[in-house]
Amino acid sequence: MAEPLGALLDAALAPDVDPAEVAALPLPGQMRAAVVRKSEVERFAGLATHDKDPRESLHVDVVPIPPLGPNEVLIAPMASALNFNTVWTSIFEPLPTFVFLERFGRESDLGRRHDLDHHIVGSDAAGVVVRTGPGVTRWRPGDRVTVHCNAVDMEGPEGHDDSMLDARQRIWGFETNFGGMAELALVKGNQLMPMPTHLTWEEAACLSLTLATSYRMLVGRNAARMKQGDIVLIWGATGGLGGFATQLVQNGGAIPVCVVSSPEKVELLRSLGVERVIDRQAEGYAFWDGDRQEPREWRRFGKRIRELTGGEDPDIVFEHPGRATFGASVFVTRRGGTIVTCASTSGYVHEYDNRYLWMNLKRVVASHFANYKEAWEANRLVDLGMIHPILTRTYPLEGAAEAAQVIHRNAHAGKLGVLVNATAEGQGVQDPAKRERFAAALDTWKRLA
Ligand code: NDP
Repeated sequence: MAEPLGALLDAALAPDVDPAEVAALPLPGQMRAAVVRKSEVERFAGLATHDKDPRESLHVDVVPIPPLGPNEVLIAPMASALNFNTVWTSIFEPLPTFVFLERFGRESDLGRRHDLDHHIVGSDAAGVVVRTGPGVTRWRPGDRVTVHCNAVDMEGPEGHDDSMLDARQRIWGFETNFGGMAELALVKGNQLMPMPTHLTWEEAACLSLTLATSYRMLVGRNAARMKQGDIVLIWGATGGLGGFATQLVQNGGAIPVCVVSSPEKVELLRSLGVERVIDRQAEGYAFWDGDRQEPREWRRFGKRIRELTGGEDPDIVFEHPGRATFGASVFVTRRGGTIVTCASTSGYVHEYDNRYLWMNLKRVVASHFANYKEAWEANRLVDLGMIHPILTRTYPLEGAAEAAQVIHRNAHAGKLGVLVNATAEGQGVQDPAKRERFAAALDTWKRLA
């Protein structure tokens, strides 16, 4: 049995919090955490991806609390969120994430702490700081924070222009252990950001990974660099990435063309003011016929986009489905335009007709999560009420595996939250008057629950 965090949480969340008092309170020896087990990495051997079920491999176990190192912080996550990377971890694809932890373990003494027989998942969290390690000066026990998942030391030169280029950059809770779906989580001080004051724990916990990724892909200086008036084709526009991409495109004075797969999703986008929406299911695009792509279907799709835009092609295609859509994405992009990609959900060996790329001077730009500054700017937009959470459903920690399966089946919309130390939904709001100002926007996505 894990000991409850009760007194520690009470002190850390007190309105007149005393950081020294919180720091002096004892930590429990063990905690509850959502984990995959090393002993089970062969569990799904021989099964097709679709048939691998996270409900069989993602468990809530009682595990030891990690020791704190330099520049690190222990937070008590009040809530966390599901990301697609937890689906990959729990079906052990494309490889068991223990491979990352073993590699980390070989790197240094501090890395060795991560190389365990269990992997605590979760790459998003909102919570409260309970301990700071040596060298942490910007954060104190009692600070309410959101966490971004770029875990990087910056010891080498490569990352000092853009920390995503650091050779030892890792995604927290995926390529490191001690992620957000645990009563205590280990992060670096430079992963913390102030929690937006009008949000609940579960709303704040579902922001960073997909919002900051979308921010870098579209807005930051490192990828597509969207500008006013750009036409942006957004695949999966009500998914984790797409739900934020759509808002960023609208905010930036660009023109979203959103692709989704149900009338309910179309309706949600319309209620957000998106005029150009394609229901890929209803319109039945079949870009692949077995092993061959269907250029006729690319053309039909391109024609449909032009109908919606008054004859224009996308300046930017926001790509992540990968193999299923990449050929079409390259085809429909405007001459000189950009396909920005951060993922390959449907398969990572992409095929496209290169004549459409080079003859039309298009660019494929790779993007991956975000550096601290990009994540911070994205978080700031939320605090300003310019971007809103896209949470649709919240699960208890014991329901994390069910939530992972829902995402694996593409039976969700927006983000799925997980309560960790919070005892119910709706807790954690610091500024109720500010929340009231954004009440309508905060409720919109919950309609898709
Ligand atoms: P979600 O599942 O929340 O959303 C993805 C959406 O894409 C789905 O809702 C679906 O929308 C659409 N989609 C899925 N498959 C296809 C397909 N075959 N053809 C067309 N559309 C499809 O996932 P996320 O948005 O959170 O993540 C998407 C991918 O991006 C994942 O693989 C994830 O691992 C990766 N990722 C990468 C990051 C990085 O930093 N590199 C960061 C975040 C995510 P609909 O059915 O409505 O069309």
